[in-house]
Amino acid sequence: MGRRHVKEFRPDEALNLITADREGKELRCPSCGSEAIERTPRRPRKGNGTPGRVRLTCTGCSRLVAYIDRATGTPVGMR
Ligand SMILES: [Zn+2]
Repeated sequence: MGRRHVKEFRPDEALNLITADREGKELRCPSCGSEAIERTPRRPRKGNGTPGRVRLTCTGCSRLVAYIDRATGTPVGMR
């Protein structure tokens, strides 16, 4: 019945995932628990991301979240 929507995470789940991504942690779907999270664009290197639009898609349950990664405000040099 009806059209298929793109499923999105609930706000708290999305925040959870975004935070993990920003901190360079392993990504795990907060909804279904799958670790098969596709990131677009891919992380170039550990720690240092590129500013711009990031999309995280769970291949397990097809939910996705997109956010704008701002490079400014994220101090580099935490080693
Ligand atoms: Zn999932």
